[in-house]
Amino acid sequence: MNVARHKAQCTICAHENSAEIEAGFVNWESPAKLAEEYELADRTTVYRHAHALGLFDKRKRNVRAALERIIEKSGEVEVTASAVVAAIQAYAKINAQGQWVERSEHVNMNELFERMSKDELERYARDGKLPDWFTETVSVPLATGQDDGEEG
Ligand SMILES: [Zn+2]
Repeated sequence: MNVARHKAQCTICAHENSAEIEAGFVNWESPAKLAEEYELADRTTVYRHAHALGLFDKRKRNVRAALERIIEKSGEVEVTASAVVAAIQAYAKINAQGQWVERSEHVNMNELFERMSKDELERYARDGKLPDWFTETVSVPLATGQDDGEEG
């Protein structure tokens, strides 16, 4: 379907808050919730609009926003521990362009330490034990890393 034809029959395109609806979609807000909030027929309307305007790609690149929300929330409400750990792991591997970075030589160790919670840092200081998400992010064994490729 071309954009002009889409626009002619889309309630979001004609909506006074269309920019906010799009921003919400790109920020991984629930399409069902967006539909409810802006009194659209249902989430299909949101998906159709997103398809026509190429918002899926934008949203995909914005995956860090979704992960940030999960990590942030872990401080307020109860999110399962595994969900938070998975989110932190994923966050550590995704660069600003939303691309998955597996190459651990590009992992900035200082950044990882900054990401550790107070409890994790205390545990590391006490027992020398790094959290699992940390060691799994740095998948190359540190002891055998002969050449120092760190350039900041
Ligand atoms: Zn539309």
